[in-house]
Amino acid sequence: MPPNTPIFILGLAVGTCLLLIGLLVGFWFGRRAGGGDLVDRRQFLDFLRELSQWTSEFSGDVSKYQSQLTSISQEVEGNPSAPKEEISGLLAKIMQANQQLQARLDSAESKLETQTDQISNYLEEARTDGLTGLMNRRAFDKATDELFEQWQHKEQSFALGLVDIDHFKHINDTYGHPAGDAVLKEVARQLQQELGNAYCVARYGGEEFAMLSVAPVASAAEALDELRQTLEGIQVTHEDQVIQVTMSGGAAEIGPDDKIGNLVRHADEALYAAKLGGRNRVYLHDGTICRLVTQVAADTAEVPESAETENDRDQLQSRVQERLRRIVEEESRRVVER
Ligand code: GH3
Ligand code: MG
Ligand code: MG
Repeated sequence: MPPNTPIFILGLAVGTCLLLIGLLVGFWFGRRAGGGDLVDRRQFLDFLRELSQWTSEFSGDVSKYQSQLTSISQEVEGNPSAPKEEISGLLAKIMQANQQLQARLDSAESKLETQTDQISNYLEEARTDGLTGLMNRRAFDKATDELFEQWQHKEQSFALGLVDIDHFKHINDTYGHPAGDAVLKEVARQLQQELGNAYCVARYGGEEFAMLSVAPVASAAEALDELRQTLEGIQVTHEDQVIQVTMSGGAAEIGPDDKIGNLVRHADEALYAAKLGGRNRVYLHDGTICRLVTQVAADTAEVPESAETENDRDQLQSRVQERLRRIVEEESRRVVER
């Protein structure tokens, strides 16, 4: 065995390993991004292009090293009786080639680390809401699709809970938009804390949040009501301003012949039953009707049909209509995309 063979094999093995890691990372992120639309494809392709560029540069380095060592090895074999000085000169060349390869390996490794971080940060940003740090609507819809698929295959039921901050526009108008943002962040924090065991929680849009749960819908609704009580019991402070916040909640479970649209509509109807019922309460849609989950004190139990002005009621009704129209539109789009 020529003297440089172990070094040669070592270099080749390390090189191949790094090359494989590069390809695997590319493949893995490709799978995570492929199929779904979580990632801006163009930016993702740029990452992959860079990754493939340095993996090919790197494979060039390895084969250069390979041919350097082969030629040194041929020099040694072609001249078995070479004087000592010549042998040590050849050894020095091997050492030098080794050091060069080591330097290239180090730089390749750190490039790989940087790119892996960039890709993973990017994927994280693509699924996170910038203000609250919760999962965003796109990622939440994807999680809903996943649970729906499981429901179809294994009949693992699941529930959707919706949370909407009460009179949030009034909070913005009274305390200012930054204070509104502070309220959103605090509600998100409490939501994460209270509903952390749910399958996932997300900012659904504006001042609305959502959760998915594989627990029975009654437990999901109870969890929403606990969150409601927590919010009722705290105050959000923002620059000396003390803000009282309440939320309304609605929950529903996927039913035997339901599509995702039915589920969202039921949860939405439960949420709006809570709004119509006087806010600061949680309703559960049992597939047929909306039931009150919150234990409401006797003097406020029969609410506000009359306390709500007619105008208020009309506004809510038309918002329910508008939301239902949006759900139908979204669902039709979802069906077309499939
Ligand atoms: P309801 O009790 O019926 O839910 O009334 P509401 O005032 O909470 O609901 P409405 O839909 O009338 O107002 C929601 C407001 O939320 C309007 C919008 O300007 C505000 N909003 C949406 N996104 C943000 C945000 O990111 N930050 C802040 N500060 N406000 C937001
Ligand atoms: Mg709302
Ligand atoms: Mg609201």
